Amino acid sequence: MSNNSSVKIREVPFFDYSKMFARYQEALTEIFQDVLRRGAFILQRDLEEFEERLKKYTGAKHVFGVADGTNAILLLLRCLNIEKGDEVILPSHTFIATAAAVHYSGATPLLADCGKDHLIDVDSVERLISKKCKAIIPVQLNGRTADMERLMTLAKSRNIPIIEDAAQALGSKFCGKCAGTFGIGGTISFYPAKTLGCLGDGGAILTNSSEVAERIGELRDHGRDPRGNIVSWGTNCRLDNLQAAFLSFKLHHYHREVEDRRAIASRYHEGLSHLAELTLPPPPDDGAHFDVFQNYEIEAEEREALRNHLKERGIATIVQWGGKPLHQLQNLNFRRTELANTEELFKKCLLLPIYPTLEEEEIDYVISTICEFYGY
Ligand SMILES: *Cc1c(COP(=O)(O)O)cnc(C)c1O
Repeated sequence: MSNNSSVKIREVPFFDYSKMFARYQEALTEIFQDVLRRGAFILQRDLEEFEERLKKYTGAKHVFGVADGTNAILLLLRCLNIEKGDEVILPSHTFIATAAAVHYSGATPLLADCGKDHLIDVDSVERLISKKCKAIIPVQLNGRTADMERLMTLAKSRNIPIIEDAAQALGSKFCGKCAGTFGIGGTISFYPAKTLGCLGDGGAILTNSSEVAERIGELRDHGRDPRGNIVSWGTNCRLDNLQAAFLSFKLHHYHREVEDRRAIASRYHEGLSHLAELTLPPPPDDGAHFDVFQNYEIEAEEREALRNHLKERGIATIVQWGGKPLHQLQNLNFRRTELANTEELFKKCLLLPIYPTLEEEEIDYVISTICEFYGY
């Protein structure tokens, strides 16, 4: 008998905050008490320690904890002396935050198409470059670092700086080099659902340039230099010391979390790669790429029907950015453009649950439910 009432339901949330907290409950509670006892809230040693650890982990020469991933991009743009009429190129397939940072820097955001890897397409970037272009912002989406070779070559030949939005890609690599360390600066987000999440908002800026580092140090702390003298216009954009303390601890366990995510991606790949109706992301070990799988973004035929089928069986999925790439948003006055690849992708793209506490039976349930939908 197979009617709807007999369907076996198992709840698989898209992300499980409670389980994530439960994993580290004791340690995080201890850290909370320790920091509060010390009254160490702003620019204290826990932040310094975290920044040191993040330097070691990413190979960046300088790291600054900042308020969040959005303001991290804005601060880097502020280092470029942007004037009205200047342009900054970014992909249409990104979170609104990337474009908002450009908007508030005073520049006009220009939206580029994506390639088969769902990341910024270099040919599309090249077509958008004019004399007004002040920066290119590749977004290392879903925990995958773009093939940076061609993009870096193009940017160098035109003398345009690259700022990486690596909000989703801490520890992700291309040719052994970490996301966020290719251009003049890169940004990370510690939003709770990001691969390294804190208990609220948080972000970081990575840079190998001592000039940029000096400027960021001032910008995030009211224009003060390391001795506390006010030497320029700045703002308040600091990472809370308490969040830094949590993050320092979590960074210590981050390798395991990344391996968990990569194992889930492998399991999805094994279970789903025979389905002709799906296009999957590359498996974990893919050439020069080391992916951290912030997301598992597939392309699916009959996506809406598949989504409903999964939802009815308790499995939560997401279509990125509420289903719309940036160039399809109304009211924000983006320059009108048609981006064929991005538009095609958004008819099919779908994020499956992927997070370290996801259990093997849950993954297998997702896989079998998808197979069932397509009649395998
Ligand atoms: C999360 C995210 C941001 C913004 O980070 P916040 O810390 O939430 O401000 C920017 N860009 C991308 C691609 C993101 O996924």
